[in-house]
Amino acid sequence: MYNELNLVDIASKHVLLQQSRKALKGRCPFHTDETTSLMIIPHSNQFKCFGCGAEGSSIEFLMLIENKNRQQVIEDLAKKTFVY
Ligand SMILES: [Zn+2]
Repeated sequence: MYNELNLVDIASKHVLLQQSRKALKGRCPFHTDETTSLMIIPHSNQFKCFGCGAEGSSIEFLMLIENKNRQQVIEDLAKKTFVY
């Protein structure tokens, strides 16, 4: 279910995204990016960096940006999602 998280929403909090043809582009937050190597494909909810090779979905983006492992990311999301 966490793959349903909107990657564009998540990424846009960290990266200034520019619309290009089929994707959104921005400066990669995972390496020193002088250009806009990071591409986000809204259709498949995936990202890919052509500079450092980082790629994946919302979970991988959060793992990299918050420097957490998969389990920690999922636990954090569970806390945010299920607030009683
Ligand atoms: Zn990169």
